[in-house]
Amino acid sequence: MFDNLSEKLDKAFHILKGHGKITEINVAETLKEVRRALLDADVNFKIAKDFTARVRDKAIGQNVLTTLQPGQLLVKLVKDELVDLMGGDVAGVNLSGNPTVILMSGLQGSGKTTFSGKLANYLKTKKNKKPLLVACDIYRPAAINQLHVVGKSIDVEVYSEIENKNPVEIAQNAIKYAKANGFNLVIVDTAGRLAVDEEMMDEIARVHQAIQPHETLFVVDSMTGQDAVNTAKAFNDRLNFDGVVLTKLDGDTRGGAALSIKSVVNKPIKFIGTGEKMDAIDAFYPSRMADRILGMGDVVSLVERAQAQFDEEEARKLQKKIAKNQFGFDDFLAQIQQVKKMGNMKDLIGMIPGASKAMKDIDIQDDAFKHIEAIIYSMTPEERSKPTLIDTRRKNRIAKGSGTKIEQVNQLMKQFDQMSKMMKMMQGPGGKQMMKMMGG
Ligand code: GDP
Repeated sequence: MFDNLSEKLDKAFHILKGHGKITEINVAETLKEVRRALLDADVNFKIAKDFTARVRDKAIGQNVLTTLQPGQLLVKLVKDELVDLMGGDVAGVNLSGNPTVILMSGLQGSGKTTFSGKLANYLKTKKNKKPLLVACDIYRPAAINQLHVVGKSIDVEVYSEIENKNPVEIAQNAIKYAKANGFNLVIVDTAGRLAVDEEMMDEIARVHQAIQPHETLFVVDSMTGQDAVNTAKAFNDRLNFDGVVLTKLDGDTRGGAALSIKSVVNKPIKFIGTGEKMDAIDAFYPSRMADRILGMGDVVSLVERAQAQFDEEEARKLQKKIAKNQFGFDDFLAQIQQVKKMGNMKDLIGMIPGASKAMKDIDIQDDAFKHIEAIIYSMTPEERSKPTLIDTRRKNRIAKGSGTKIEQVNQLMKQFDQMSKMMKMMQGPGGKQMMKMMGG
């Protein structure tokens, strides 16, 4: 996500680092590079120009040059400006009404259907809603099927009328059906075209007018850069939508859409899509995104994901095992499974401050744990619970069984040993102190 932009901004700030004393010229040079980075990320020229002009004005206003750490202050000013550019505060969805009606708009292929499913699933689990998904694409039977497949995967009912060719009627009937059957959330997925056209706009405007949704969301593929911004404008002119959903942020996007949409349509980005699976949805936090863009990581999101996977009961059991010296490879495996549930590795590493930059040339495989798992699966249950049993003969057998080398087995044994020792230490009398030292 935004790797190139992050790297270029980092380079821009580097101009300041090499100098003992910073001059106005250095600052101007830095801001020129910042502007170039934004333009390369496909941010609209005027937005990029205004952006740097505002940072420069603030820098002058705050006497950047006379402060103790001008470089850091400038980074902060750029961060604040990025946050503003992306919308400032977090914007939630309007969940009033019973049922709450949410209308999805956007071009074909933007990720509308996938996102309708993600949102239904998200509001079902987070807000305890009972959602009904509605298929309003009367042109592509495949689109209706797709929504049914999505609905099935998240256990959400899908309303469709195969024979009916009037989307307004389908949407109205669906809302009646929801009321009669106790659904308190209706998400209407509409037909999109490959490009903006009048007929599509008329149709969605009619649906919009007829059902008066509590929330209208515009879904857009973030990889389409400036096009995304133009499409957003066209839809907003007709629908006056409430918020934007940026999909495919897991891809190699340059970031232009995320950085420009708010200033062009003056509507907040509310959600982002970060993958094809149903749980690849996140609320959009401008401040966290700015941190990520500046390579400062996103510790808050990381902790939130960890907490979502955290099981108190399991943690207590684990603590007991550690105290009794019974921590084994099965527990190690369980820990790996938990980490894997938090998301793909690249995404997680992007949330650790500085890590993205440090690891940018390393190819991180999503199956980073594959070898470790294979090695552990090749151990006997006895070996897993009592790792001290594993001698050279056994190591050779395990390496063979897992298709790895004995060095890899040795390495894992060593890691395991260190981890066990560390866990033991955390439990001991000095543990609290140590946790404090580590910022815990
Ligand atoms: P629609 O035509 O707007 O309904 O778009 P779809 O929901 O059918 O999505 C089009 C394609 O994009 C599908 O292959 C989806 O799996 C994929 N897709 C949707 N959202 C995301 C996302 O956030 N990340 C990635 N990588 N793919 C996505």
